[in-house]
Amino acid sequence: MNIHEYQAKQVLAKYGVPVLKGGVAYTAEEAEKVALDLAGPVYVVKSQIHAGGRGKGHFKEPSAGDKGGVRVVKSTDEVFSNAKQMLGATLVTHQSGAEGKEVKRVYIEDGCDIKRELYLSLLVDRATSAVTVMASTEGGMDIEEVANHSPEKIFFQGIDQATGISGFHCRNVAFSLGLEGKQVGAFTKLLSALYKCFTETDCSMLEINPLVVAGDGQVIPLDCKMNFDSNALYRHPDIVEYRDEDEEDPMELEASKHDLNYIKLDGSIGCMVNGAGLAMATMDIIKLKGGAPANFLDVGGGATRERVTAAFKIILSDPNVDGILVNIFGGIMRCDVIAEGVIAAAREVSLNVPLVVRLEGTNVELGKKIMAESGLPIISADNLADAAEKVVKAVKEAS
Ligand code: ADP
Ligand code: MG
Repeated sequence: MNIHEYQAKQVLAKYGVPVLKGGVAYTAEEAEKVALDLAGPVYVVKSQIHAGGRGKGHFKEPSAGDKGGVRVVKSTDEVFSNAKQMLGATLVTHQSGAEGKEVKRVYIEDGCDIKRELYLSLLVDRATSAVTVMASTEGGMDIEEVANHSPEKIFFQGIDQATGISGFHCRNVAFSLGLEGKQVGAFTKLLSALYKCFTETDCSMLEINPLVVAGDGQVIPLDCKMNFDSNALYRHPDIVEYRDEDEEDPMELEASKHDLNYIKLDGSIGCMVNGAGLAMATMDIIKLKGGAPANFLDVGGGATRERVTAAFKIILSDPNVDGILVNIFGGIMRCDVIAEGVIAAAREVSLNVPLVVRLEGTNVELGKKIMAESGLPIISADNLADAAEKVVKAVKEAS
């Protein structure tokens, strides 16, 4: 789960990380009010969307001006006018997709006198199963660009979770960033706090780009992106509160409410499968047979009829779906329950695309019988290859 920049800064502040003063606003009037409480005379108006690259982004509406999604301004009047331009407008960045994202909130922050822009992030390194700190002197830029063109400018520091972070780790990173004097001590405090925050809140990624050295020598995060492990969210009700449903794919959101693992893809064949491994294999074989999956969907081991129905509806709400392949191995789950769920859902949504079902396992004969007697035009398949061939063929014939 992602959260907004201003929310991430609230989390950081709780851990004692120095952040600039600011406040969120949903209207231009609120934005001006927030600014009046800040020191001034320089303010920053920042669009809050779940996509990076806002500063270099552009708005779809000409009325929002051509100054990007992060604007440094010099009066509270300008805070008002810029917030007014941004709110309700659609911001397109290199991470938002071409359709962009509507700005519904802006963050008004104190302006910072920037001397240097650095890059700092914490993430889970899958190779070592440990938290790794990534740092670069090339802050404010896209880190992917840096990785592509000058990978030697990225410094990595792994941290063994048995011992946790120590002054040695922090100094290593500080020196790689060219920090000196008092900045090293301040950075050590900052990085230790970030590490604590990262592990205690079950982050999967915490990125500060840029981390700046200000004119007065202070080291402060100017931007922050946080991503949390969704499997650990049950431990963090305070973070769940930050969820902004407007920023999430509506189908993925609906799926998460039913405990379904659903990821939307670009193809035309909807897949309903139990078990992530089988779901991957199903997607592979659809590709092998010349089709393209419209989604990844794992209904899980103990899915009920209600969950199957919900899954079915989610698949069908994707307008790109021209056919569905249900591939279930009834181990824990019984095939007759699946069959009933599929039929109930197909009736409820008045199914109008070909449906191929491959069932195997517990009560498979009963499941097949229920489907055959349903009167619905369900194409039954005997194995994975047969199922994929049948659905690809049915989709081609239907289009
Ligand atoms: P994004 O990464 O989405 O473009 P950032 O928050 O990193 O958004 O802002 C983009 C740039 O705007 C930063 O690299 C920095 O140069 C400038 N900026 C952001 N916040 C401030 C601030 N409070 N004061 C001065 N400049 C800022
Ligand atoms: Mg940034």
